[in-house]
Amino acid sequence: MTTTNATIEATHKSITAQILTQFCDDYLSADAFKDYAPNGLQVDGGQPIQRIVTGVTACEALIDAAITANADAIVVHHGYFWKGEPEPIVGMKGRRIRKLLQHGISLIAYHLPLDAHPIIGNNAKLAEALGLTITGALYPHESHPVGNIATCIPQSPNDLTTIITHALGRAPLHIPADYTYCNSEDTHTNAPRLIKRVGLCTGGAQDMIEQAAAMDCDAYISGEISERTTHSARELGIDYFACGHHATERGGIEALGELVAQQFGIPVTFIDIDNPA
Ligand SMILES: [Zn+2]
Repeated sequence: MTTTNATIEATHKSITAQILTQFCDDYLSADAFKDYAPNGLQVDGGQPIQRIVTGVTACEALIDAAITANADAIVVHHGYFWKGEPEPIVGMKGRRIRKLLQHGISLIAYHLPLDAHPIIGNNAKLAEALGLTITGALYPHESHPVGNIATCIPQSPNDLTTIITHALGRAPLHIPADYTYCNSEDTHTNAPRLIKRVGLCTGGAQDMIEQAAAMDCDAYISGEISERTTHSARELGIDYFACGHHATERGGIEALGELVAQQFGIPVTFIDIDNPA
């Protein structure tokens, strides 16, 4: 577990969960997204907020860390109440929510709005960390698209692997394109090409590889990989880099915490609960 403080000194300022949520809702245009979970205030701890903890996922380890840090609110990318999950607040979910309420901690979550934000979003932050320049959306005809197209200095797949490893602190799983399957003038060599145009979408967006190929990307970067993704990469002639769901989604929530700390002058600590997936 590692922590980063957005503001170091403790203050005695406080805000309500509603004010904090309204600010984040507005900044992220949360209402504009159709999402798989509710964005905004998910659990109202009922206390004024003087100290905030941020993290990728509202797991019990993050709640414990927030209790230790004396936080009144947790702001995350992966909250609760996902579409299709069982509704009763029992078992693991019951324990997490009971702990929040017992300690008066509010839970605030932003999913797609935090992936997509052009400045502090997960995709924007990942592009920045990898030295990519975003030039557009993977789905340019959608009103609030998630996922981007970016350009980079022409580089080999091995060079991009090195850059990702350095930026995220872990090596990606790289599936090289197999040009024998696609119509290309280099079909006969099957040598790796230089990567100049990249599609990217953090988290579990591996199935958007087909769209990245349709948008003429040389490579596609996401978090997770499925068995089928390997065959898609090879046959679509696009290099795939699975960089870790957690690893690709730290940037947005950490940046949102920094923004909140600046806006309200209250201490915000990013707590990274290690997750190899
Ligand atoms: Zn995610």
